[in-house]
Amino acid sequence: MAADRRTVIENCAIATVDAQDTEHATGHLVLAGDRIESLGPGPAPEGLENVARRIDATGHLATPGLVNTHHHFYQWLTRGLATDHNLFDWLVALYPTWARIDEAMVHAAAQGSLAMMARGGVTTAMDHHYVFPRGSGDLSAAIITAARDMGVRFTLARGSMDRGESDGGLPPDFAVETLDDALAATEETVRRHHDTSPGAMTQVAVAPCSPFSVSTELMRQGAELARRLGVRLHTHGSETVEEEKFCHELFGMGPTDYFESTGWLGDDVWMAHCVHMNDSDIAAFARTGTGVAHCPSSNARLAAGIARVPDMLAAGVPVGLGVDGTASNESGELHTELRNALLINRLGAHREKALTARQALRLGTHGGARVLGRADEIGSLEPGKLADLVLWRMDTLAHASIADPVTALVFGAAAPVTASFVNGRQIVENGRLLTADEDAIARTTRAEARRLARIAGHA
Ligand SMILES: [Zn+2]
Repeated sequence: MAADRRTVIENCAIATVDAQDTEHATGHLVLAGDRIESLGPGPAPEGLENVARRIDATGHLATPGLVNTHHHFYQWLTRGLATDHNLFDWLVALYPTWARIDEAMVHAAAQGSLAMMARGGVTTAMDHHYVFPRGSGDLSAAIITAARDMGVRFTLARGSMDRGESDGGLPPDFAVETLDDALAATEETVRRHHDTSPGAMTQVAVAPCSPFSVSTELMRQGAELARRLGVRLHTHGSETVEEEKFCHELFGMGPTDYFESTGWLGDDVWMAHCVHMNDSDIAAFARTGTGVAHCPSSNARLAAGIARVPDMLAAGVPVGLGVDGTASNESGELHTELRNALLINRLGAHREKALTARQALRLGTHGGARVLGRADEIGSLEPGKLADLVLWRMDTLAHASIADPVTALVFGAAAPVTASFVNGRQIVENGRLLTADEDAIARTTRAEARRLARIAGHA
């Protein structure tokens, strides 16, 4: 008899996050290769006695793998600095250090960032990398290699900055590229690394950094480049009141109007933060299908404000969650963002009618898949979709007495990850990575953080 390579997972609660929010109090999943073959309530059907692997997931909740939609991996090396600054002061404090990064540092930081997310249930990660010091090596390849080696699905948002201080921008001139260099390097990164095949593990987006660090020409030509190459667009937008003021002074309009004028609203665009949005900004995002990466912890850390996520969802704006860089969210874990998204929005204008636990889980899974343009393949547990899923342990002291497992996951303490699968391959077991040595990564990132501090002259 031919070996049956399938995996059966049974006896767990399942939150599918499909269009109907289907849940099973006790159910099963069958994985075949890189896909989910079937799932449903109760035990697995007969005829699956000879599968390669059978997991008794009693006491667990199965959800789609978490999808992170905004991050800056390199910041893993500058965590815990400038902890009492707002965005602009924090950036100005850190740019000189960031301008000294090199390939070995960026690779180590990517490993640290990816490991922290993966062991906490992230199956799809992204990195918005926009600092490319001259002579620093092939940073994009270093980041992509780290993700590939760890087995995490990945989007590299190839960032850029070309508006230095002498052009009215925020970053120092030595930290920026030229317009032509930024565009050429971005195009080369897409051509070398962007995978359009089904189940792709590596994709690339075009991602100039922000209105206050990028020329209008780079915004415009970046949008044209992405559309010519058929890839997505990402940037920071409407993060702080200072940015809004900057846009009015320099461009004579607010950030959303500026984005519209440069070709940056559309269903192939997602933007980090979007905190300072008025009703017509939200309507413009909804009308054009522009997505949002909501980063509640980072917004709180930098005192940026509270994004109007309930209003965005009501208007039909696609919204995912992001940890943002770990220099403004030292934890770097996405499952805590489910909780923070919910709690922070309840502090905002809508109070108790803000997000529910199930909406928070949807933001961190299907919502993220949507803004990354991958919702047809990931973000929910459905037959035919890629087998990216997490088994959260819910029968320990932390969660066992909480009435319902989705409530326990979102409102409760960070839940232990018993198993996490990407493309049907298990990458985490009992909270530890199977694809990398966490202790070695901790040592390497510490050494690289110290080396960066030494080179930058503050250690
Ligand atoms: Zn960011």
